[in-house]
Amino acid sequence: MGKVTGFLEVDRQDRKYRPAADRVRNYKEFFIELPEETLRAQASRCMDCGIPFCHDVKGIKGCPVNNQIPDWNDMVYRGEWRQAIKDLHSTNNFPEFTGRICPAPCESSCTLNITDSPVTIKSIECAIVDKAWKNGWIQPQKANHSTGKKIGVVGSGPAGMAAAQQLIRAGHEVHLYEKNGKIGGLLRYGIPDFKLDKQHIDRRITQMSDEGIIFHTDVHVGVDFSVKKMLDKHDAIILAGGAEKPRDLPIQGRNFNGIHYAMDFLPQQNKRNGGEKEQFSKEILASGKNVVVIGGGDTGSDCIGTSIRQGAISVTQLEIMPQPPMKENKLVTWPNWPLKMRTSSSQEEGTEREFSVMTQIFEGDGDGSVKKLHCIKVDKDFKPIPGSEFQLKADLVLLAMGFVSPIYDGMLEDLNITLDSKNNVLADTVNYKTSCEKIWTAGDMRRGQSLVVWAIREGRQCARAVDEYLMGSTLLPR
Ligand SMILES: Cc1cc2nc3c(=O)[nH]c(=O)nc-3n(C[C@H](O)[C@H](O)[C@H](O)COP(=O)(O)OP(=O)(O)OC[C@H]3O[C@@H](n4cnc5c(N)ncnc54)[C@H](O)[C@@H]3O)c2cc1C
Repeated sequence: MGKVTGFLEVDRQDRKYRPAADRVRNYKEFFIELPEETLRAQASRCMDCGIPFCHDVKGIKGCPVNNQIPDWNDMVYRGEWRQAIKDLHSTNNFPEFTGRICPAPCESSCTLNITDSPVTIKSIECAIVDKAWKNGWIQPQKANHSTGKKIGVVGSGPAGMAAAQQLIRAGHEVHLYEKNGKIGGLLRYGIPDFKLDKQHIDRRITQMSDEGIIFHTDVHVGVDFSVKKMLDKHDAIILAGGAEKPRDLPIQGRNFNGIHYAMDFLPQQNKRNGGEKEQFSKEILASGKNVVVIGGGDTGSDCIGTSIRQGAISVTQLEIMPQPPMKENKLVTWPNWPLKMRTSSSQEEGTEREFSVMTQIFEGDGDGSVKKLHCIKVDKDFKPIPGSEFQLKADLVLLAMGFVSPIYDGMLEDLNITLDSKNNVLADTVNYKTSCEKIWTAGDMRRGQSLVVWAIREGRQCARAVDEYLMGSTLLPR
């Protein structure tokens, strides 16, 4: 703990955003970096409180990758940035991803948050890794031995990337298979550039490639490449294919044109920005349209920010849950989680938000295109309140209500793999082993729709389990 009285002397200060009117003109990231002096002062607010809930105590809450937050806060306060990135990389392969898009459970768990505002952990994490890239401190870490074992990883999202990087550094031959044209999973095609510029992924791909990982893009395992053939060619396979089956809203009028899943809409803009010149069979654009986004989470926010940048006339977001209180109740403590109204940067850019709303009918015009939503307010038990019906104009409806499970057809079906009660691939979090010989699983494919930080954790832990299985022991961290 660098400065004993830091938290008494310094108020929380966090990154600010460029003005909304400015940033919606393009798809670039828009946070304004804090100056070094401010970052060091912010790091001095860390109390090194003795029980660092931020770092995650016994899996209760806090950082899923167990970032050693009090340690690197102290290093930043002292200006020991190079030591700080070493510490950060010891628990997290990709802090530039989490430093940008993690909802930061570490900050909600910060002891200072009980009576004050939490330490700006996420911004400090991001500054450490950005500085390290800028100064050339991040280099490939090549293994100095070869085990002769060959591992195939299916899916190149954060879980597959983390698993592959851990395993190549343990001396294995690693092949990463991806059905899309580029590596990155939802980091690449789901999350918009204004939240995560794709150069951050590209830079890691170069590092991973220099470490020896062999990338196979445009290979759909279970379709282009039989998983059984894959089994013959590898000593172990990790399935990190995500949870791609979206939740539908099968109500009257669902088949009208203009009603799409979020993940039909968002990848198109990411591909346009990334110069992937694919001809879309049906181009989905919000320009000049009244857009309604159904679903209040991260995906919904990404649809809002993208629609606004495309030039939507209006964007309305519907959420079935009631509106949370403006301030969290600090007296609500673990195991309960205090609810608080949060406004994402995209919501800030200009959207109407409606809570406790259920959509009952989509109405269309003579051409078969959606024109209106018939909605009703619901009570806390989600029961419709008679007399509260209203209608909303809509030319484009984006369904952002989450994902139900991995896609079963193809790879998982061919393997006849055992699923859990939610239709995710069954495996525990010690061994990550599936019901199939030589096959492991990690990330959203195992735990269901989740977060990037959880995917990184699972990829790392799964890599350790595979290394231990193949070699009899492992030095990879837990
Ligand atoms: C729009 C959106 C916004 C989000 N925003 C955030 C956020 O701000 N912060 C956050 O923490 N989380 C966010 N999430 C959640 C986060 O992106 C996921 O939890 C995380 O990416 C899961 O990682 P994963 O590696 O398990 O799977 P994914 O990232 O889904 O990657 C799986 C990869 O496997 C590939 N694949 C699947 N099957 C096959 C096959 N048979 N053969 C070859 N390849 C295959 C897919 O093409 C994909 O590239 C968001 C999710 C969405 C949809």
